[in-house]
Amino acid sequence: MLRWIDVLKYAKYSNPEPRVRVEKTEEEWQQLLTSQQYRVTREKGTEPPYRNVYCRSYEPGIYTCVGCGSLLFSSSTKYHAISGWPSFTQPATKNAMKYSFDDSHNMQRIEVICNVCDAHLGHVFNDGPEPHGLRYCINSASMVRVEEEEVDSVFRNNKGPAGEAKSQL
Ligand SMILES: [Zn+2]
Repeated sequence: MLRWIDVLKYAKYSNPEPRVRVEKTEEEWQQLLTSQQYRVTREKGTEPPYRNVYCRSYEPGIYTCVGCGSLLFSSSTKYHAISGWPSFTQPATKNAMKYSFDDSHNMQRIEVICNVCDAHLGHVFNDGPEPHGLRYCINSASMVRVEEEEVDSVFRNNKGPAGEAKSQL
């Protein structure tokens, strides 16, 4: 389980190594993603609070990266944070994402980025619930939820990082 001190160390010194890397040109990303997904994940956009698909959704399943399909979060760590965006207490695996200090908009925040394809996901804060105190505040547009019954077929077709990560769920 990650704590705030782990997140700070990752952002300050070095992030965990991803299992694989997915890199595409801006043109390829534009073809692959909707304009909203592109704006959020490749241009570090933020979708409007509450008016996003996973904010109030608590169905079981896993949340994967919209850009590369990597496993990001399990629904078991999703909680109601009254923030307007989907919120999680922990990433699905320690190396699912990387962290970067973000001083934009006159705020000091820590940005959360997909470790495989560099998609901007959202930010992580230290005001989450006990015992670890993390709140991952994530844009719905950066994720795709996979229903529990679909998980097996997704992993059979995805021998990448998500397939290996399944055993850690
Ligand atoms: Zn990704």
